[in-house]
Amino acid sequence: MTPEDKRLIAEYINAEPESMTYKLDDDRRKLITEKLLGEKWHFLMSDPVCPEWSDCSCGARVLSTDAYHHSLNRTFDNNTDMMAVRKALRDKGKWWKFYLSVENANTYAPQKLMAYLDTEPERFCWLVSEWMKEVEK
Ligand SMILES: [Zn+2]
Repeated sequence: MTPEDKRLIAEYINAEPESMTYKLDDDRRKLITEKLLGEKWHFLMSDPVCPEWSDCSCGARVLSTDAYHHSLNRTFDNNTDMMAVRKALRDKGKWWKFYLSVENANTYAPQKLMAYLDTEPERFCWLVSEWMKEVEK
């Protein structure tokens, strides 16, 4: 990375409006998990007849106190989940369309755009979820 690249990245990151938030809610996490990664989303619904047990949206029946099962959902705020999303976009031939949509929505130089996409996993995944919502309209 050249000093110019570093300067552009710092300039970009500092230019991000503080009011801009990219928080992923469960709807966005579920969308990416199921529609892009093709993985199961876990949402527990307690059994009205037998409340100590819950049925999960993945098909499993687990103890209602089983916090571990719910923690199986990806949070998309870490590098591992970000890379899973990137790989899925690439493997499905969608990376370029996503990249161009972000590029069209910004006026930043390519160096800035790559830094923008790589710096914050949750922001990256939020942008992907936003793009997916646009594409599915
Ligand atoms: Zn489950």
